Amino acid sequence: MNKRDYYEVLGVSRNATQDEIKSAFRKLAKKYHPDVSTEPDATEKFKEAQEAYAVLSDPEKRRQYDQFGHAAFSNMGAGGGGFDFSGFDFSDIFDDIFGGGFADFFGRRTTSSNRPKKGRDTLIRMDLTFDEAVFGTTKTINLDIMENCSDCKGRGGHGEKSCSYCHGSGYVTSEQRTLFGSFTTRTTCPKCEGNGIDYERTCSTCKGTGKIKKNKNIEVKIPAGVDTGNQLRLAGKGEAGINGGPNGDVYLEFTVKKHPLFERDGNDIYLELPITITEAVLGCKKEIPSLYGNVTLTIPSGSSTNNKHRLKGKGVSDIQTGRKGDMYVVINVVIPDKLTSEQKKLFEQLAKTNLETGNNFKKIREYL
Ligand SMILES: [Zn+2]
Ligand SMILES: [Zn+2]
Repeated sequence: MNKRDYYEVLGVSRNATQDEIKSAFRKLAKKYHPDVSTEPDATEKFKEAQEAYAVLSDPEKRRQYDQFGHAAFSNMGAGGGGFDFSGFDFSDIFDDIFGGGFADFFGRRTTSSNRPKKGRDTLIRMDLTFDEAVFGTTKTINLDIMENCSDCKGRGGHGEKSCSYCHGSGYVTSEQRTLFGSFTTRTTCPKCEGNGIDYERTCSTCKGTGKIKKNKNIEVKIPAGVDTGNQLRLAGKGEAGINGGPNGDVYLEFTVKKHPLFERDGNDIYLELPITITEAVLGCKKEIPSLYGNVTLTIPSGSSTNNKHRLKGKGVSDIQTGRKGDMYVVINVVIPDKLTSEQKKLFEQLAKTNLETGNNFKKIREYL
């Protein structure tokens, strides 16, 4: 499935301001809202625009989307999923556009205070070693997880009966006046949230919420290639939803510890390699460590400090594409600060020869 880019859906540039994003969504919502649109594919278009807006209007979600694309919102960062926006509150913007009482894509009336709301998200910070981040790992985290109450089977009450407010139908009808004319709308019953059922007595175990908190250890697969500041979403593992809404999500945010040798820049790895003055002058072969085992590097004669050698594909796997970055070996020619008397003699002999090659020496001499 090829999901369209959220910016493309809204028709805004990648650096659009929040106001531009809001105004682009307002235009699309007016055009495609299934209650008012006559376009043949209005529902799909509307849903697409809602999803794009739910992500791009939230600075944190937008940042994740910019970084990982659609993969940011699929569980565990794999595959081409999309953002689950069922918990997003569209009431402000719809009230703004349509004058209140309009349903979002899920048929929820936006002015009902009893409507289901997604639970709050939770952020957990996690430290990873360099290798864990580079190669991926499995971690066990301890979480309070909301589960269906076993006493009432998640219903929230005992002694099922027909809802007295809507007489068991699950909805109430009312007339709505909007700038597009007058509509008779069926509104989900605020008392029973549309299921037509009420209970003789509220469940005391879960206090009517249908959910109870359980402390659990859960295993989380951390994909290869995460870096400091990256977040991983664990869908539905956050706080319990309100009025039967879905649970919030848990976000893991990573801090990656430094490696004693390797330095990481995005998906590239840097290694500073010390070589002796004779190795630099004469050239040499050096065994060096890489992420994927030792490799032999040929250093040509006449090497200088800061010369870079690129080892293609020896970097970190990209978290989204799996493509590997490169490794760069940066040469550091170490000048000895202590010499044996024999070494000193050899250097003194060398000093009698002309080692001034290249333009650098000539240039300075011209100014003398
Ligand atoms: Zn009802
Ligand atoms: Zn219960």
